[in-house]
Amino acid sequence: MYLVIAHEWGHAIQARLDPSLVWRGRELQADCLAGAALFGAAENGALEFEEGDVDELVAAFDRLGDKTPWTKESDHGTPAQRLSAFNRGADGGVEGCLPD
Ligand SMILES: [Zn+2]
Repeated sequence: MYLVIAHEWGHAIQARLDPSLVWRGRELQADCLAGAALFGAAENGALEFEEGDVDELVAAFDRLGDKTPWTKESDHGTPAQRLSAFNRGADGGVEGCLPD
């Protein structure tokens, strides 16, 4: 649930960014921004991870990895690509989600 909201929030951020800062892989950047939002919120105390939450996030990417018509791989990337983008945001924050 938090993941989906944070991902959509990522799209809202993209809509406000200078187009030169938006990745060609928009969906992966949204996953990156989701990681930055959730782990940033945890870091500043706005959100508290409970035991098992991180496992659930990993499982969610596995499930969302395009086995359903609304999450086609061509649209969102493979589970591994999505998790990798999410981790990039979790580790590097918003700046980690901007082009190099
Ligand atoms: Zn999306």
